[in-house]
Parts: sequence; C-alpha cells; structure tokens
Amino acid sequence: MKVSTLRYFTSPYNFIHQENRKVKIYDTTLRDGEQTPGVKFTKEQKVEIARKLDEVGVHAIEAGFPVISPYDEDAVRAVSSERLNADILCLCRSKQKDIDAALRADVDGVIIFLAVSELHLKYKLKMDLSTAISQAGASVEYAKDHGLFVQLSAEDATRTSLNSLTALYTAAKDRGADRLGIADTTGCIRPKGMAYLVQSIRKLFDLELSVHCHDDFGLAVANSLAAYEAGVDAISVSVNGIGERCGNAALEEVVMALYALYGVDLELRTELLRELSLMVSRFSGVPIPVNKAVVGANAFRHESGIHVAAVMKHPFTYEAYDPQLVGQERKLVFGRHSGTESVREKLAACGMQVTEEELAEIVKRLKTLPIGSELIDNGGLINFAKRVLAERARDG
Ligand code: MN
Repeated sequence: MKVSTLRYFTSPYNFIHQENRKVKIYDTTLRDGEQTPGVKFTKEQKVEIARKLDEVGVHAIEAGFPVISPYDEDAVRAVSSERLNADILCLCRSKQKDIDAALRADVDGVIIFLAVSELHLKYKLKMDLSTAISQAGASVEYAKDHGLFVQLSAEDATRTSLNSLTALYTAAKDRGADRLGIADTTGCIRPKGMAYLVQSIRKLFDLELSVHCHDDFGLAVANSLAAYEAGVDAISVSVNGIGERCGNAALEEVVMALYALYGVDLELRTELLRELSLMVSRFSGVPIPVNKAVVGANAFRHESGIHVAAVMKHPFTYEAYDPQLVGQERKLVFGRHSGTESVREKLAACGMQVTEEELAEIVKRLKTLPIGSELIDNGGLINFAKRVLAERARDG
C-alpha cells in the first residue's frame, strides 16, 4: 500500500467489520432540521437546499410536514415540482388528512409515524395499543391505495417493547408498507442496543428497514453506523446534524464514515459537502462549530509546530483523509504555537531562504502575535517574515 496515493488513510483495525453493502441516505434537513427551535426555511431556501442535496446525490429528501400549514404544504410542493433525481418524501401522522396534504404536495412517498411506547400511548396519544395499531394500518393502506411509497416509522421505537413494535410493524406490513422505520426519538440507545434492535426486527420482517437517530448523548452517528452494521437499508440524516434539541445524525459524518471507514461507495459527490453545510448554516442561522467533524473550519487546520512540520512532510501524519474529498482546504496557521522547523519549512516551500539568525527572529516575533491575529498560510507568513527582516535591516 502506497500511502501517498490514497485519499484517506484509516485504521487497519477496521477489518473487524468488512462489509461494504450499499445503503440509502435520506435527508431530513428540510423536516427534522426545520424543527430546530427558531429555524424556518423559506420556500425558496428549501428548494435551493433540495437542489444541492440532489447534486450531492442523496437518495431521498424528506421535504417537510405538509399538514402543519398551507405554507408548509406549498413549500413541499415546490420541492416536488423540481423533479429532482432524489425521491421526495414527507412526514405524516397516522391520519388521513395528513396523507391528503402529502398527496396535494405531490410527493413520491410518505413517512407515516406513530409511537406505541407505553409513555407515548398513555400521555401523548391517550390511546390503547390496539387502537393505535389499527389506525396505523388504516393510514398505511390509504397511502398505498393512492400510489405512495410508504415508510411506517415507530416513533420512540428504542423505548418500545419488542412485542408492541412487532404488532405495529405486522399491521404495517400486512397493509402494504414498503419500509419500516426505527426512530430513536430521544437519542437514548447505545450502539450495541441499536444493533440488537435492528437484528431483532430484521429476523422478523423481510422488508426494508431504516433508522432515524437523535443526538442527545452525542451518539446519533455511532448508532446509525451500528444500525448499518446490523443490516439497515436506509439512514436518516441532516446537514450539520440540525434537528430537534441536539439534532440528528449529521449527513456529512455518516457519509464520510461509510466512505472512508467502511469503504462503501455511495456514489455521492462528497466534494460538495462543505458547500452544502455552509448553505444550510446560512439559511438556518445555526453556526457550524469550528471543531465540527468533516465540515468545521478547524477540520484541516494546523497550528502547533510539531503538527505543521509533520503535515508539510505528509498530510496523513495528522489527517485521516484528504480535505478535497469534502470540499475543504488544508490551512496552516502560524502564531504563538509555531515551531522553528515548521516556519523554516514553510518559508523554504515558498522560495524564501533565511539564515538561522533571521529565522530565530521571525519565530520570536511570531510568538508575540496577539490572539486572533495568527497568520494563515502562504501569503500571511511570507509577508510577515519580509516585514520582520526589513525592520531588522533598518534597525541594523
Ligand atoms: Mn426526529
């Protein structure tokens, strides 16, 4: 293996799971993402995000929850009318009027959700299990009769008994559902629990399975990957992980993990991920943390002297994948954390030869730079070095 020709370099211990089966990515930025407190996308923004998601190549886009308001219905219809390659889905409760709104919005399919956990039945729905199940079955049948792709999602599935889940999924399957959904609505399962749950459902139902994971313990991506290893066919994600409370599994993290850690070729244009992330951040008003995996500003930024010197010799010393894979750039930062060797190397790489004494002076001055005025990459450091040397010559 020639490390220099690879686009990513990950741990050989990943051999523990060698499967690279394909999986569908369905994005819920426009639905769960829009349920982030304070976030409202305009119709035009929804269409623009949907186009970008389609350019990236996600398999399906959950465009909204049309029954909420005429405005939401109209926005979903606007996304549907784009005739994108991605399938357009929307969310519905187990109610005929929700499915009617979906039909008016002209979607390809619906995600009908219903919770049958004890907690939700008792306090939210005030309904017994059998009533809930027959309602779900009737909704699935109604949607199928109208030609829709139907995913029946068990909300709060990770806190629902296997018996209740089985009863719900059986009703959905009998009425023609195309896919069964497992939602970790409060993000409260651990990866091995998720694998167990997926395997248990998998054994009982010969239907497509999907997961929708929340990030309340920071495990949404880990749980999604555990579900992948356990055999799910589709994973729900959102750009930058936005969504209710702590959000959902981040599209960019799930996609890059599948690509680089599992070797799954999802045939997505990952080089557009940074652009997509910036667009969603701009439209949603939710900032991207600088240390956010894949798309954060610091993801390929190095300052400490040892790291910068090593990265200049070979980027994989301190990076697991090539920034261009995700539309990012490597940035070397020079400031108080810089080391002599990294500065020497960088200046030499830019064609600037300095004596040891001059170098020492440049590094000394770098270390006095106030916080926030660090120099980033080529131009910054060279101009700074020239200025230092000019002052040195002037002051004799
Ligand atoms: Mn959700």
